[in-house]
Amino acid sequence: MIGMESKPLADLSDGIKVPSELIQIFGPCSAETKEQVLETAQHIAKHFPQAIFRAGVWKPRTRLGTFEGAGEQALDWMVEVREQFLLEPCTEVATPQHVEAVLKRGFKNVWIGARTTVNPFLVQELAHALQHSEVRVFVKNPINPDLGLWMGAIERFKAAGIDHVLAIHRGFQTFETEAYRYSPRWELVIEFMSRMPEIPVICDISHISGDRRFLFEVAQKALDMDYRGLMIETHPNPDAALSDAKQQISPLDLCSLFNALVFRSATVKNSDFDSELNGLRARVDAADDMIMQGLILRQRLIEQIGQHKKVHHVQILQLKRWEQILLRQMENGANGGLDTTFVKRLYELLHEESIRVQTELFSK
Ligand code: PEP
Ligand code: MN
Repeated sequence: MIGMESKPLADLSDGIKVPSELIQIFGPCSAETKEQVLETAQHIAKHFPQAIFRAGVWKPRTRLGTFEGAGEQALDWMVEVREQFLLEPCTEVATPQHVEAVLKRGFKNVWIGARTTVNPFLVQELAHALQHSEVRVFVKNPINPDLGLWMGAIERFKAAGIDHVLAIHRGFQTFETEAYRYSPRWELVIEFMSRMPEIPVICDISHISGDRRFLFEVAQKALDMDYRGLMIETHPNPDAALSDAKQQISPLDLCSLFNALVFRSATVKNSDFDSELNGLRARVDAADDMIMQGLILRQRLIEQIGQHKKVHHVQILQLKRWEQILLRQMENGANGGLDTTFVKRLYELLHEESIRVQTELFSK
């Protein structure tokens, strides 16, 4: 990851500090009425004059009978936002007709929704409709945890001659039940960042959280992971919002959120810091080497066990033994202060691999 050297903080008139290079995309989930759009924009412009103003105009809804957005008329409300409050508008485009409607109004930013990124045919059509335009395209991750689809969509926009393509991490739909609405799967984004280091990643903390109670912790984590911006759904009366009510916050709460956030640098120019960090990193490397030696030894033993079972015609899966291993290590881990969910996931992975190794051995 390319780190930011330092973060000069722009001190806004009312004391809210935002790093000047942080991309800020704020505004309601959906444009509902002209008054709602202008009121939200007025507050945002006052405190965050650099912000991009977001609002969904065509809403991709799972079920019929829910609010589907105000449609094309709402684009004109957003043009008023630009004229009155000098915020650049941004909306979701999902069809070439949507693209045509926003280009006609001089929009400089659009985002591609999670339900569109999953569809390469549609992405290709949108890339074609936007080709060689100056528009900045923010590509949300696909609904399902598939890095290839996300990277593929970005490549299609790039190949269409669009220079400014950015990524938005909005979380993934998984079968695990979690407190958050969409599982962040941070490790996937870390992989994305190392495979496409030139693409800035923005965190859509609203859709990951799904509940305004979690916005702060998700935002702080994103900042500490060197994300280049935040997307935050903002509504003058969040509880009455026609879509995503639980996760939206008022402009006032947006200010409080920023006042609470800590902006840390990617690095500092300080030789004491460097030598301390390098010393600790060397010890982490040594610990990793020990883990790897342990894993190699474990695999050799698993192979011997597999061979032994094979000779005696005994099945691979021994449920009782597996439960004992898991319990023992979860207890060991907990005694050393490790999170038991983490230990469980780790051992499930090891067990899966041990079954794979034995299955391969049995089939020889
Ligand atoms: C949204 O930003 O309101 C939205 C619908 O997003 P997503 O495509 O991430 O669900
Ligand atoms: Mn939304």
